[in-house]
Amino acid sequence: MIFSVLTLFPKIFESPLQESIIKKAVDKDALRFNIVNIRDFAEDVHKTCDDSPYGGGPGMVMKAEPICKAMKHVEAQLGKPKFILLTPQGRPFDQSTAERLSRLSHVCLVCGRYEGVDERVLDFIDEEISVGDYVLSGGEFPALVLIDAISRCIPGVLGNEASVVSESFREPLLEYPQYTRPDTFMGIQVPQVLLSGNHEEIRKWRRKEAIRKTVLRRPDLLNGFLPNKEDSKLMREVMEEIPE
Ligand code: SAH
Repeated sequence: MIFSVLTLFPKIFESPLQESIIKKAVDKDALRFNIVNIRDFAEDVHKTCDDSPYGGGPGMVMKAEPICKAMKHVEAQLGKPKFILLTPQGRPFDQSTAERLSRLSHVCLVCGRYEGVDERVLDFIDEEISVGDYVLSGGEFPALVLIDAISRCIPGVLGNEASVVSESFREPLLEYPQYTRPDTFMGIQVPQVLLSGNHEEIRKWRRKEAIRKTVLRRPDLLNGFLPNKEDSKLMREVMEEIPE
């Protein structure tokens, strides 16, 4: 999969894409990055990429021409990508969006800055995505969030494929609690069942704890949860165990 990124601050991407899982995926050719500086497509000698808003008001707006020229360049170079604009006005990003986008061969992430981009750029964008209901100063960190979440859905990127399957949000449940050595830390014991070696008991315990965490922290997720018979029983147990 290829990620093209259009940005005024290409250096932001240097270290995050050269560490850990993403670096390994690049090394084994599962991922490729094409970071493009929008400023290279500015038309005047000063390489202007922003200007004051028509109608007045504070701040600067990113000009449409350099962005659209950079988009054309990416398309000519590597074929038509899905063009995604990072914007707080977009659809909230979630796990199912990450999975859907991970099946594409080329995605181009367009990062805004300042007050955002000239609205006419939207005519050339396939999808607008937000990473949450807060305002950041640029689309670069949101782009990195998408890159990270999408990459780990691509087969072969994570070492252990199974870890993707049980994680939070794969189903509308948070993940069960995880522990590693030592079995006693500051006097706090690992739940005994995890040391029992009884795989069926461990599976059941994890399922119940995943349900408990979701009930306590994110009951909103349960609207999309389709419990089977065992889940319903575990859910009843969890509800009875919650102190008044
Ligand atoms: N004035 C704009 C916000 C501009 S923030 C508005 O009110 O809608 C500057 C840039 O940061 C945006 O163009 C966008 O690319 C990025 N950005 C800020 N918050 C974001 C968010 N929650 N999700 C995705 N991108 C965001």
